[in-house]
Amino acid sequence: MRPTGKLHLGHLVGALENWVSLQNEFENYHLVADYHALTTNLSTSELYDNSIDMIIDWLSAGIDPVKSPVFRQSQIKEHAELHLLFSMLITTARLERNPTLKEQARDLKIETMSYGHLGYPVLQAADILLYKGNLVPVGEDQVPHIEITREIARRFNTQYGNVFPEPEPRLTKFARLPGLDGNQKMSKSTGNTILLSDSPEEIQKKLRTAVTDPQKIRKGDPGRPDICLVFTYHQKFNPAAVGEIRKGCESGALGCVDCKKQCGAAIANALAPLREKRAYYETHRDEVKNILADGEKRAKHTAQQTMSEVHEAMAIG
Ligand code: ADP
Repeated sequence: MRPTGKLHLGHLVGALENWVSLQNEFENYHLVADYHALTTNLSTSELYDNSIDMIIDWLSAGIDPVKSPVFRQSQIKEHAELHLLFSMLITTARLERNPTLKEQARDLKIETMSYGHLGYPVLQAADILLYKGNLVPVGEDQVPHIEITREIARRFNTQYGNVFPEPEPRLTKFARLPGLDGNQKMSKSTGNTILLSDSPEEIQKKLRTAVTDPQKIRKGDPGRPDICLVFTYHQKFNPAAVGEIRKGCESGALGCVDCKKQCGAAIANALAPLREKRAYYETHRDEVKNILADGEKRAKHTAQQTMSEVHEAMAIG
């Protein structure tokens, strides 16, 4: 994940929850993509603090840094080297066809793109393959990048010998959580988010602005839950009440104001344990810095091993 600010519900349900559940079954690596953050913001003054804030969100959601190292991309120079080698194995035309990049350029109104931004998935391929990742737990928007990673791994293996696995994406049931404004993706860049660190009051306030079925204007009007993003949030955060909410919405008995209040309460309730842990880590930031230093040492060790295999296969270095 890129350290671009505090995490939102999309990050949690699309990726982070999966990381937490997979860490018991697999050897996980959790990367702070700080080089990748430069693709959309060149200012570095907040990068470190944002990284620590993001790691606090990870730890609060249940990431166990003893089981799985947490580290910054910029501290392990092997990422930069592998990125360079991989950049020879893919054409610019292939990268220009990347639908995720086109979507981002549209949302952020980027007219001319830097060379590094075009190569976003090439650096991501290096991030994944340095640790020989088999599974990549990401949201749906990242699937095209995993496909590019597979192509690069295949190309390398054919050209120089078998070093890398061909990783697969691992999606959750909510691989693309919609935003409050009705946009298909909750995303910081479009400002339609509920943050993991929002208070119950902030959550209620934000939900009041959520777009619902335009045909349901007042209580009594029948609604269409399947096109309503608040209903999607209920499905995730209030599963026990989903049947009743559907019935109430469709018949008109349940108004949007009430429905949103119930949804806000369920989200606040689900985030309560995270909020509690966050409060602890916010007053123990040094502990988080030590976790990072330990993770960086461990990740570096794996990265160096992979790079010596790469050097040997390529007969360089
Ligand atoms: P952002 O899109 O907010 O800049 P990132 O690109 O750093 O966030 O995404 C980090 C991870 O969170 C990725 O795996 C991405 O697919 C996932 N993710 C982000 N937003 C959502 C969302 N709305 N629904 C599901 N997953 C998401």
